[in-house]
Amino acid sequence: MKIIIHGGFFSESSTSNETKLAKQNALVRIVKETHTFLKSHSALETVVFAVSLLENDELFNAGIGSQIQSDGKIRMSASLMDGTSQLFSGVINIEEVKNPIKVAEVLLKYEDRVLGGEGATAFARASGFEKFSTEIPQRRAEYEAKAAANGQGTVGCVALDRDGKLAVATSTGGKGFEIVGRVSDSATVAGNYVNEFCGVSLTGVGEDILSNATAAKIVTRVTDGFTIEKAFAKTFKELEAYDGFAGAIGIDREGNIFHQDSHPTMVFASCDGVKTEVFQ
Ligand code: ASP
Repeated sequence: MKIIIHGGFFSESSTSNETKLAKQNALVRIVKETHTFLKSHSALETVVFAVSLLENDELFNAGIGSQIQSDGKIRMSASLMDGTSQLFSGVINIEEVKNPIKVAEVLLKYEDRVLGGEGATAFARASGFEKFSTEIPQRRAEYEAKAAANGQGTVGCVALDRDGKLAVATSTGGKGFEIVGRVSDSATVAGNYVNEFCGVSLTGVGEDILSNATAAKIVTRVTDGFTIEKAFAKTFKELEAYDGFAGAIGIDREGNIFHQDSHPTMVFASCDGVKTEVFQ
């Protein structure tokens, strides 16, 4: 049983040491709580659990604390994938729900599994998700000041359960100030992908991650026989062609945990039951 979670990137210029430390402490608390949960739940249930906790923590740019788009509204994206059934579900640019990942969880049981914009929000309401504002005063102040938000902080989790099954979930408030309608990588197979061999979740500049089909490519390489290290290395090398900005976490079916980033300011934590590690 293994898990790895990430709390996205933070900006070296605008993030205080205090925030950095607070993010690391939050990741350690959440990874430990999630590992306990994993003992009696499936990988799929566990990644939703972890990402909901991260969405509830305003330190991260997902759920509560999400960034604000150019028109002053928050729109969030999240996706979920089950490595065993290969089902992928997600919401793109959903508004005013506390936990976008839980809407993705409901969608996994439907035939139409990726919904965007107003349709995603309407589906959430019809499924019993109450209207909930995920805005916090700090994000509004940054928006009003047209200041860069406090670092990107998309969240994600990959879990390998006691039956050897993998699942992955990713959730984001986007990059902030984006054109209305922009689609983040987080609810696509470039940002969130898993099969029975390997699972990967990304953070970084969505456009860079999409251009490289990053998560899907890493997973495919592991499926075709690459070690997880080599699959990450080759895929990150390809990002260099356009100085792509991305960070990824992954676990393969043997339980090897791996992470890599193009620019070293990403926060991660992993737990295998014996050892909890946090790194940036
Ligand atoms: N990948 C996200 C996006 O481009 C942002 C992030 O990871 O912080 O919307």
